Amino acid sequence: MEAKLFGSVVQPETKGVHSVPVTELAEPLPHEDYATRFFCGGCGTVLPVLREAVPGIVSSGAEPGPDQYIHTDRCDVCDSGFENARIKNIPFS
Ligand SMILES: [Zn+2]
Repeated sequence: MEAKLFGSVVQPETKGVHSVPVTELAEPLPHEDYATRFFCGGCGTVLPVLREAVPGIVSSGAEPGPDQYIHTDRCDVCDSGFENARIKNIPFS
């Protein structure tokens, strides 16, 4: 009898909706040159953001605080630029 190669593979979720990775966002930043992290709800990417890069992402010019991050709908990883970037509080539970 031949085993089915892909019969039992569970499909990963690729619906474009990712839950906010609180633990990852709350980790200490790798260097003082970084202001915060961004999280892309479109592809799930989390990356540190340099202070000098914040104004280019958040058009309001606001500075994220220590318990805040930048939430985007699209980012440079999944699209060509950051879309709908806004500063949000890390949703600690
Ligand atoms: Zn993305």
